[in-house]
Amino acid sequence: MEPDEPCPCGGGTYGECCAPYHRGAEPPAAEALMRSRYAAFVLADTDYLWRTLHPDHDDRARPRDAWEAEMREGLRTLRYRRLEILDTAPPDADGVARVLFQVTLSQRRRDRSFAELSLFAHDGEGWRYLVGTTESVTRKPGDAIADWE
Ligand SMILES: [Zn+2]
Repeated sequence: MEPDEPCPCGGGTYGECCAPYHRGAEPPAAEALMRSRYAAFVLADTDYLWRTLHPDHDDRARPRDAWEAEMREGLRTLRYRRLEILDTAPPDADGVARVLFQVTLSQRRRDRSFAELSLFAHDGEGWRYLVGTTESVTRKPGDAIADWE
């Protein structure tokens, strides 16, 4: 993807939005990490997706090659269309930050859109994806994390 193309996450040009993170810079906050992970899904950047999993994420207990093969198989047929950030919450007493978002996507012409509440924690190097709960529903702007938990 060229730096002057629109970033898949919708946050501006790729070069000024998620590209620096994909090249190694650490996102300054959970929302930026979440956006850059969405862009990495669109770009099938599995190295980035693996690197930004928190050590406590379930997938980290799996062999990376098995995880990667499954991920690539899914990404081959998924068509990501849009990301909408609906709500964010700063780190709580345990250092866990939250992002509620809606992803519009399809797979083999079937709508696979979902909403997810993602939890993120800092692992000492950067923000990492800890765990997420998804619902196959459409959330609307104005929906809040408080309505979900
Ligand atoms: Zn972006």
